[in-house]
Amino acid sequence: MAGHWFGARLVERRAQTATGRTLVLDVPGWPGHLPGQHVDVRLTADDGYQAVRSYSLAAPADGERVELGVQAVRDGEVSPYLADVLPTGARVELRGPLGQWFVWRTGQSGPVLLVAGGSGVVPVTAMLRAHRAVRSDSAFSLLYSVRGPDEVWYREELAARDDRLDVRVLYTRRAPRGEVRPPGRVSAADLGTTPTGPGTVYVCGPTGFVESVADLLVGLGRPAADIRTERFG
Ligand SMILES: Cc1cc2nc3c(=O)[nH]c(=O)nc-3n(C[C@H](O)[C@H](O)[C@H](O)COP(=O)(O)OP(=O)(O)OC[C@H]3O[C@@H](n4cnc5c(N)ncnc54)[C@H](O)[C@@H]3O)c2cc1C
Repeated sequence: MAGHWFGARLVERRAQTATGRTLVLDVPGWPGHLPGQHVDVRLTADDGYQAVRSYSLAAPADGERVELGVQAVRDGEVSPYLADVLPTGARVELRGPLGQWFVWRTGQSGPVLLVAGGSGVVPVTAMLRAHRAVRSDSAFSLLYSVRGPDEVWYREELAARDDRLDVRVLYTRRAPRGEVRPPGRVSAADLGTTPTGPGTVYVCGPTGFVESVADLLVGLGRPAADIRTERFG
């Protein structure tokens, strides 16, 4: 099924930030997916020109409804169109679900550390939502790196009280008033002070971010085999 193109219809668009959007699509025949998986989205212009890009699934499987999170990249060909131009009710095609490695399975035990940069928060949010939905006993921690307070996605959801989830937002350029940590990139100190012990680590975001975090984790003694990465390019 993963190679099959499904017809999909955009049914809802919500703003997460000035440039980040949640897109909800109806996908008849959708087979379901695992938290962390992604899809390919194919757009076809009237003259037959096609463009394909990958987008992560932001929520656990929910029948024929699929939720994506799209960050409009400046001068990008596809993401600004999906984020702000594609009309509600319009049709696109989806292929998937894709990816078997960057997934959290609800039967999986052991603590989990999620490290997200920017829109890399999308697939780890699917994991957090699944974790909450099945009332998993596994301790989850999220380190979420953003440039400033106005770039936080899923703000209310991440702030909701949950004894099995620890969320820390790390600001790289502009920190909100009262934040003790000076703005800066994710450091070994940030990674070394998360409450979860040994377990699986999921790192997602731009390639440079993912590589830097993975190197720091290995430097801290995390076995490379426990680190799962997803690069957005
Ligand atoms: C497995 C996978 C999952 C992904 N999931 C998501 C997701 O959930 N949400 C999401 O918003 N994106 C996601 N992406 C990135 C997405 O596929 C596109 O690359 C992105 O939307 C840019 O496409 P574009 O057509 O707008 O830009 P393009 O026209 O392809 O590129 C335009 C310019 O932007 C630069 N650029 C490309 N991608 C990025 C980027 N991610 N950040 C900064 N600059 C970039 C390019 O170097 C180029 O200079 C994912 C990518 C992969 C491989």
